[in-house]
Amino acid sequence: MSNKRKYRALRGTVDVLPDIQPQWHHVREVMISVCERYGYGQINTPILEDYNLFVRGVGEVTDIVEKEMYVIKDKGGDELALRPEATASFCRAYLEHGMRNKPQPVRLFAVMAPMFRYSRPQAGRLRQFHQLNVEAIGDQDPITDAEIIGLCWQIFHELGLSDITIQLNSIGDGECRPNYVHALQSYYEQQLSQICVDCKKRMERNPLRLLDCKESRCQPVIEAAPRSTTYLCGNCENHFSHLTKCLNEMAVPFKLEHRLVRGLDYYTRTVFEVQTLAEGGQNALGGGGRYDGLIEELGGTSTPGMGFAIGIERVIINLIRQGIEIPKPPPPQIFIAHIGPNAKISAVALSTNLVRSGVANILGPAGKSLKGQLRQAGNIGVSYVAIIGEEETRRNIVTLRDMTQHDQIEVPIDYLPQHLSSKQT
Ligand code: AMP
Repeated sequence: MSNKRKYRALRGTVDVLPDIQPQWHHVREVMISVCERYGYGQINTPILEDYNLFVRGVGEVTDIVEKEMYVIKDKGGDELALRPEATASFCRAYLEHGMRNKPQPVRLFAVMAPMFRYSRPQAGRLRQFHQLNVEAIGDQDPITDAEIIGLCWQIFHELGLSDITIQLNSIGDGECRPNYVHALQSYYEQQLSQICVDCKKRMERNPLRLLDCKESRCQPVIEAAPRSTTYLCGNCENHFSHLTKCLNEMAVPFKLEHRLVRGLDYYTRTVFEVQTLAEGGQNALGGGGRYDGLIEELGGTSTPGMGFAIGIERVIINLIRQGIEIPKPPPPQIFIAHIGPNAKISAVALSTNLVRSGVANILGPAGKSLKGQLRQAGNIGVSYVAIIGEEETRRNIVTLRDMTQHDQIEVPIDYLPQHLSSKQT
């Protein structure tokens, strides 16, 4: 009996195969284009970070840190984490590279950044997934919140995803949120017989998260719960009303959603989430908010920040679900069919010369009949096939078949790259 082990991609991780690459490429291009038009600069931060960066930055009592973070002890005994999110890394980089001395806000983005969370895999929820992360650090004015939300909206607009909404809320700041949390806890004290076991735990540990419990028995309790916007202090109220004014002026549609609190500890004031209306799977495509306390938490001087993340896999699922056409890369221009041992050598040399002249080509497989190779060329959709047999090799030519005109000519093999590049537009 064979004891060969079959290796498979780990649970919650996927291979992104060539067939789906046009979607990934398109999404990446749209995201970069919108970010750059808004003046954001690209940054890449390491996947491995100090474990404590996320404990401090995301919050100890969050699902991400408590249950989902991949923690690694390296050979030197240091505790590291595979990053579960990017905001803490951006803020670390902002501090580490003295970006405070640049004009504020510092506008940064990272695209196709892999993130790792140990959660139960399901449609649209992976253990390794990818995000676009956009952050504007160093400005607390509501125009920055509006810019960030506008940028996020513009990406979905340019991707052609139509069935989405932006949900918006303000959860106040260090001054007014304690009053709100107190009101929420007092309200829930009266509802103990109605709520689920998890919510009983949340009441002490993470009271804001009471509002995004998914248990059906908790829904009426949430609906009637006190709303954070009722408890905003003057400054937070002012900030929020300026933000909504800006968004209206920018024609960015949004819906006020009093249940929206978001999962991470560091948010202050503005929180928002992009949801798809489509049924099934995970319907949060992206989200973010303001985190005015985070940089201080990470050891810097008090510095405001605002940003969001979009989940790439979920965007792609929705592009496919909505049947949105993606520009496909053109097929290679020419297929090189070859028959015989000498022709094979000429063929591989020709392929390289074509590449060097900028002509995309596919080298036919060795040992396959001409008929089989022509069929393969037809399936790929190339415009030309270069046929090299023993006769062509001897005469240093190729028989060049035009697949659309259905005619063929002889071309000196050394002249073929020039001949084809002159036909490219
Ligand atoms: P978060 O960092 O939790 O605010 O997530 C931002 C976005 O990343 C979400 O709206 C999702 O689109 C995406 N996302 C978060 N967790 C996962 C996951 N486990 N698998 C796939 N996408 C995810």
